[in-house]
Amino acid sequence: MSKPFSIGNIHSSNSGAGVDELQLMQKLFKNIPGVIFQFQLFDDSTFCFSYISNGVGLIFGISSEEVMADASILFAKIHPEDKSKLFLARNESINNLSNITVDLRFLLEDDLVKWININSTPERLQNCYLWNGYIREITAEKEKEFLVEKSERRYRDIVERSLNAFIIGKEGEVIDANPAAIEMFGYDSIEDIKQAKRQDIIDENDERYIALRRQRQSLGKVNGEITGIRRNGERFPCFLSSTQFADSEGKFLTMNFYIDLSQIAKAEEKLAKSQELLTQAEAIAHIGSSEIDYKTGKFFWSDEFYRIHGLEPNSCEPTPEMSESFLHPDEKYKIALFNDAPQKKLENLSFDSKIIRADGMEREVSSFWKLVYDIDGNPAKMYGVVQDITEKKQLETALKLSEEQFRGAFEYSAIGIAIADNTKKLRVVNDTLCNMLGFEREELLQLKFTQLTHPEDLKLDLRNLKDLEEGKRSFYKMEKRYFHKDGSTIWVLLIVSMIKNKEGKAHQFVAQIENITQRKEQETVLQKLNEELALRANELMDSNKELERFAYIVSHDLQEPLRMVTSFLQLIEKKYGHQLDDKAREYISYAVGGAKRMKDLILDMLEFSRVSSSIIKYEQVDLLKTVEEVKLNLLPHIQNDNATIIVGNLPKIKCIRSQMFQLMQNLIGNALKYKHRDREAIVEISSIEHDTEWEIKISDNGIGIDAKYFEKIFVIFQRLHTKSDYSGTGIGLAICKKIVDRHYGRIWVESELGKGSSFIFAIPKE
Ligand code: ADP
Repeated sequence: MSKPFSIGNIHSSNSGAGVDELQLMQKLFKNIPGVIFQFQLFDDSTFCFSYISNGVGLIFGISSEEVMADASILFAKIHPEDKSKLFLARNESINNLSNITVDLRFLLEDDLVKWININSTPERLQNCYLWNGYIREITAEKEKEFLVEKSERRYRDIVERSLNAFIIGKEGEVIDANPAAIEMFGYDSIEDIKQAKRQDIIDENDERYIALRRQRQSLGKVNGEITGIRRNGERFPCFLSSTQFADSEGKFLTMNFYIDLSQIAKAEEKLAKSQELLTQAEAIAHIGSSEIDYKTGKFFWSDEFYRIHGLEPNSCEPTPEMSESFLHPDEKYKIALFNDAPQKKLENLSFDSKIIRADGMEREVSSFWKLVYDIDGNPAKMYGVVQDITEKKQLETALKLSEEQFRGAFEYSAIGIAIADNTKKLRVVNDTLCNMLGFEREELLQLKFTQLTHPEDLKLDLRNLKDLEEGKRSFYKMEKRYFHKDGSTIWVLLIVSMIKNKEGKAHQFVAQIENITQRKEQETVLQKLNEELALRANELMDSNKELERFAYIVSHDLQEPLRMVTSFLQLIEKKYGHQLDDKAREYISYAVGGAKRMKDLILDMLEFSRVSSSIIKYEQVDLLKTVEEVKLNLLPHIQNDNATIIVGNLPKIKCIRSQMFQLMQNLIGNALKYKHRDREAIVEISSIEHDTEWEIKISDNGIGIDAKYFEKIFVIFQRLHTKSDYSGTGIGLAICKKIVDRHYGRIWVESELGKGSSFIFAIPKE
């Protein structure tokens, strides 16, 4: 270690330098731009500058004498933020006896900041540390450094934030890369990508790359498309812009910008797609677009714009004249609207117009225009959309028409229509209802329907309405009375349904009201008539019953005297027969015959009157058995006439047994009695089952009946023959009819004269 060279102690006897030498040095120190100093830090913590050259005045504005007298005035000027820096440097210098090299800021008068570089060498003396050093101002250098740093930071920022990938390479290694590059090549971090070699991120065998590298060697800078490789092995087209330069050591560095062309390709594809979509959307919606560039005077029409005007897309150059020529002659005045818009500084313009297309077709279009002005307020562009609204207009017209028709149907409907809300107030009424009730529409709309309803009908009406509201039914129908404005009563048939709101609750009721007053009046008349008829029928029934009773009594009471007449006549014949001549006997035999016929008549009449007076007891009767019994009864006739009786399938039916027997016997009896003289009688009894009734048919091959007598024969005492041809009273079929009537059935005849007859009766199953 060399002995300290104590400048401050100029007169130091230890100094090896001669006086001349010293003077020379002092002169020198005074004139150099920096500051030479000797600083001492004593073990008792006191300190001082044992020497400081005059340069201190130039830099700090304090004289060397002042500083040597009190070192602290210089230290006080150190920038507060840098004080610790000096302190730390000093400690390290003490500990290691190492040089202090430090850049510090000093705050001088007028907030002036100066950068100072201190360079000093320590020495340990007996009671202190001593630093010999040099101070120089470096403000200008620092500022330059900051500028460079700032610009470096700015460029780094740009590179870091760039969306394009940036990589610095050195002899095939990645030295640096920005986040976009890390992402583009599929790495996780800068450290990660720094591991990669050139061949990991670029296809070095790609001819294009080989050519680019060669060119770079000579030109230093190249651009071109190459193949990039991502970490997952995926290859992608990329654009490389590369610059080569030599670093301070003479090694070649490359600065490379990469653009992922696959993204651009995708973006281009997307753009093309959205353009295609726009074209499609325009075509679907029949919306064409147009652009007018006021600066260039150019017009643009989309494909659909051409089509709307009846032209093939791009079949002609769009011009203002062409646009105007499409306007319908009646609408030409709209050109001015359009042309004046920029002068009027309009921002939007819209109108509907009729056009004549290139193919001569007349259509309606709706157009919206937007004007864009530049910063000077001059028109720059006008964008427009044009839509073919012909169909829409037609639909609107049709809708309006249908609305009018509906309104007509509503107002002039044959029935009254009203809509009431859930407060029962009338909200809508049609003309018919106003006329029906004699009110003006405004008057009706002030009323609740309850005020118009007859009090006797209101309860039922409201109950029905409640059912409707509670969803128990979807509509109700009732006849009720309304009051006419003049106080009279009107009968109506009311049908009410409801309109639900969004919550599904009834909020309006639609009522259809048909005036049925006339019908009601007719009904009243009819009802009266019916009541009268029923009364008459009852009276008739009573008199019938009386008649039947009378017939019964008469026929019953007549039997006795008749029996007397007959027996006495027979007695005369028996006792005095031999005294009587032939004539007298003949008279007696007539009288007996007459009496017998009278007896038959009386018996038949008795039977007839019994049909309705006998006790009714319905029971299940097997008709087959009934027919067998009848056949047994009629056996003498059957045998005498050699008649054939064919019995088919016959049902069991619910009826009055005795009357069914009587019915069958009368019909089979007649079938045998009215046989044709040229042939033997064949009687067939059959049945047909229907849903609700049984049909029983008794057919014969007898004499038949003329159709004109089909009704008559069922009337009591109606006969078609004299008793000499066929015996009988004309009561049999009347009895049959009465029996069938009692069973709520029908009886009729089908017959052909000379061929035979069929008597058919139908009896309900239950
Ligand atoms: P009648 O006692 O005369 O038979 P009905 O009331 O039984 O009285 O018959 C009325 C008339 O209907 C008969 O007089 C006869 O002319 C005609 N008639 C009834 N049944 C037959 C039949 N099966 N064929 C032809 N005529 C018949």
